[in-house]
Amino acid sequence: MAKNTNDGMRDWVGLVPSTSFANGRSYLIRGFGNCCVFETQEGLVIFDLPIRQLAKRSFNGVRNYTDKPVKYFIFSHGHFDHAFGYGPFLNEIKKKGWEMPDVIAHENCNRRFEKYQTLDKYHNWINKMQFASMRGSMQDSVVSPHETLNPTIILKGNEGVYNFKLGKTEFEIYHDRGETDDSIWLWVPEKKTICAGDLMISGFPNVGNPYKVQRYPKDWALAMEKMMEKEAEFLVPGHGRLIEGKDNVKEALSITAEAMHFVNDEVVKRLNEGKWFEQIYHEMVDIFPAKFKNSIYLREMYGCYRFAVHAAYRLYHGWYNSGNPTDLFPAKSDDIAKEFLKLNTKETYLEHANTLYNTGKKQLALHILDVILKGCEEENNTTLYEALKLKHKILKEKSKEDTSFIASNIINNAALQIKEKLKLLKNASKTS
Ligand SMILES: [Zn+2]
Repeated sequence: MAKNTNDGMRDWVGLVPSTSFANGRSYLIRGFGNCCVFETQEGLVIFDLPIRQLAKRSFNGVRNYTDKPVKYFIFSHGHFDHAFGYGPFLNEIKKKGWEMPDVIAHENCNRRFEKYQTLDKYHNWINKMQFASMRGSMQDSVVSPHETLNPTIILKGNEGVYNFKLGKTEFEIYHDRGETDDSIWLWVPEKKTICAGDLMISGFPNVGNPYKVQRYPKDWALAMEKMMEKEAEFLVPGHGRLIEGKDNVKEALSITAEAMHFVNDEVVKRLNEGKWFEQIYHEMVDIFPAKFKNSIYLREMYGCYRFAVHAAYRLYHGWYNSGNPTDLFPAKSDDIAKEFLKLNTKETYLEHANTLYNTGKKQLALHILDVILKGCEEENNTTLYEALKLKHKILKEKSKEDTSFIASNIINNAALQIKEKLKLLKNASKTS
């Protein structure tokens, strides 16, 4: 795996300066979530807004370039890092007595906003886990489900297309599923620019996110191919740097399309061969092509190929993953572990976990440690303590090794929780 996560993530959180492009009057404003501004005689078209916590910074970024009023907001999709940083713009509109801009989105964006209200606490919880390493603002509530800016122009259905003109500039909006079912992208012929939203994130597509609902690898590939027909010279990703030059844009789109076709087609092939998830997953990991692994446009810095395999599988398959009826109505994993501990002592399991760890088999060591951690009924016990310590050590190492921000965070979160538990156990042993 490429060791470029940190640089990539620095791009993501917007530490690289904003830029004007396409002969000026087009601006890419950096934030967590890119904000792209097109200046016309009649006013501004703004494609995507950053997270609420960076809204002021992005607003100032826009106003460094132009003082024209906003006429349109376009939401590439309704995620918190694309549709919520509107506050300072609305304050300005109120103060100056300007008309409210139109807000363009796909109809599924409205459904998403409704879902955010129903699942408010749940989303807060998963976002905290997904962004656990970003201290401060991202630890707070990142989405305020009752503060959505509702769309006024709504693209409907799968074939949604919406064209409009502002000043002399034409804008064409298309709908394609990929990361989400509400994604839309923008083509501005005069500027030869595509704004892709999160259909392009300067890294491996965030498809198969472990916490999130179904995403769409095959449709993602088709979206890339549709974009390629435009022969754009500028590609504005949802996160990361502007992609400039016809050849670079083509390369970014075509390798992403190829990777998404590959994941979809190889999983489909194996489903047709009657394989179950475990076999499909491990075979897919073994055949991950080097050209994807080494592509600058597919860096596994946020999502990753291993997650994408899940997305393709889930699209076509139910939840019965193993083909083993033992797993159809399984016993509690704690109860299973307790039975294992009746067959052999926890000390033996710990010793074996250490051997596995020392021979580089970290994942297997984790499975063996879980027998102790799930099956041991005593609260305070040296073996349990040592097992927790080893699990903590392995998770810390795995978290550092993994370039995917999401994978690394999930693993690191569990390590942090174990650390807390270790502290409690240590204090309890002191007082007892
Ligand atoms: Zn995003």
